[in-house]
Amino acid sequence: MNHPAPPALARRPFPTDLLDKLRSAFGDRVSTSEAVRAHHGRDESRFDPQLPDAVVFAQNTEEVQSIVKLCAQYGVPIIPYGNGSSLEGHLLAVQGGVSIDLSQMNRVLSINAEDLTVTVEPGISRKALNEALRDTGLFFPIDPGADASIGGMSATRASGTNAVRYGTMRENVLGLTAVLADGRVIKTGTRARKSSAGYDLTRLFVGSEGTLGVITEITVRLYPQPEAVSAAVCAFPSMAEAVRTVIETIQMGVPIARVEFIDSLAVRAINRHSNLTLREKHTLFFEFHGTEAGVAEQAQLVQELAAQNGGEGFEWATRPEDRSRLWNARHSAYFAMLQLRPGCRAVTTDVCVPISRLAECVVETEADLKASPLPCPIVGHVGDGNFHVAILIDPDKPEEIEEAERLNHLIVQRAIRMDGTCTGEHGVGLHKMDFLVEEHGADTVDTMRAIKHALDPHNLMNPGKIFSWAA
Ligand SMILES: Cc1cc2nc3c(=O)[nH]c(=O)nc-3n(C[C@H](O)[C@H](O)[C@H](O)COP(=O)(O)OP(=O)(O)OC[C@H]3O[C@@H](n4cnc5c(N)ncnc54)[C@H](O)[C@@H]3O)c2cc1C
Repeated sequence: MNHPAPPALARRPFPTDLLDKLRSAFGDRVSTSEAVRAHHGRDESRFDPQLPDAVVFAQNTEEVQSIVKLCAQYGVPIIPYGNGSSLEGHLLAVQGGVSIDLSQMNRVLSINAEDLTVTVEPGISRKALNEALRDTGLFFPIDPGADASIGGMSATRASGTNAVRYGTMRENVLGLTAVLADGRVIKTGTRARKSSAGYDLTRLFVGSEGTLGVITEITVRLYPQPEAVSAAVCAFPSMAEAVRTVIETIQMGVPIARVEFIDSLAVRAINRHSNLTLREKHTLFFEFHGTEAGVAEQAQLVQELAAQNGGEGFEWATRPEDRSRLWNARHSAYFAMLQLRPGCRAVTTDVCVPISRLAECVVETEADLKASPLPCPIVGHVGDGNFHVAILIDPDKPEEIEEAERLNHLIVQRAIRMDGTCTGEHGVGLHKMDFLVEEHGADTVDTMRAIKHALDPHNLMNPGKIFSWAA
């Protein structure tokens, strides 16, 4: 591969003194091996890795604090590392520095079942958290396709298939502990359901992509396991009809738990990868949560809407094992799509538009994709107005990268014109920096920059991400 990530920034010096001090404090939890650094200097984007100088595996807030203080003393960048599943170049050490791996900070600190909250360390993964909650009758609903860490999910303001009903990390993080660039430890929020006490620093850190501090504890909302759950799939003759069904479902206020769009090419990929036999047509996956009666009522209404829009038969997955198979297949869609073209990489788009503009946006996008020589399956959390095109490129062909970026620009600019966003859930990282100004305007991005300058005056925290240091 040869696809350096923009922009090319100068690496900063990494003093041996700092390495000696880290080694004396953390012993063999400091690694400078090529393999470990390479693992931490990449993500799931198409960009070539850019390696940190060292990786330190932290075990508690005090350790994070002491790593940050040492790095601050030597002016060395710090890149928090969760599970490495981000998609936009978030983890690339564009100026070198120390990657703080938080995977060993993976404890559940307290479950407050009566208040429906849990406090965790950042390295716990979403699946491990739900495993720990198994006997409580509660669950944590946010489910990106990867088994991401709760810290990484907070830092990218992630969501997933359940967001249409349960919200994103923005709605579900109640408070957090963070180590700032100068080593101070702050706590934001409380376990109270609401608060008007001052600036909302929790929301500032949620989505900050490691650029403001290292999150070391997080309190999130939990939900009771629904009494009844049922799932269904339905195929449609066209994208427009599938999307219209979703729009009408949302506009009628049906409290649907999940509604995912999978285009015919993505269905083919999923069938092959997960050994399913779905009809290879544009398809919606639905899930309904509630009481037995509530679920039946929601399902009937949506079934009628689908039928009016040309939906070809609802197939129900009522047994838990059938539902898991369906949703596991959906969660594996990214890797299934990669297998459509062995050896390829995906440039993944992530636009999100107001639901009223979704049909128009998807249909116009489909026309762009049809005119392109690249395979471009589409999947989407369409209940939120969010969809992803996986543009499959041969990473050794510059003309394919150029074509993928051309498509990405078209799609993003259309979404912005429709009052939408360049990224519904993956974040900005390196790849979407230019779009941020287009979306928000220079003054708004300058306001973000002023916050960064105030909290991290030496640009130590994950430098070179979200926006440039200087206007
Ligand atoms: C197959 C696949 C499917 C995906 N599906 C979805 C999806 O449906 N929805 C979605 O939202 N995303 C999705 N993603 C993207 C990715 O899973 C999310 O962005 C996720 O939130 C990243 O979590 P992570 O633990 O892997 O973080 P990492 O990739 O390790 O880090 C992501 C960013 O957060 C920062 N960070 C990590 N931990 C901390 C911390 N404790 N404190 C401060 N900053 C921190 C890092 O510095 C980096 O900037 C998908 C990715 C893949 C590969």
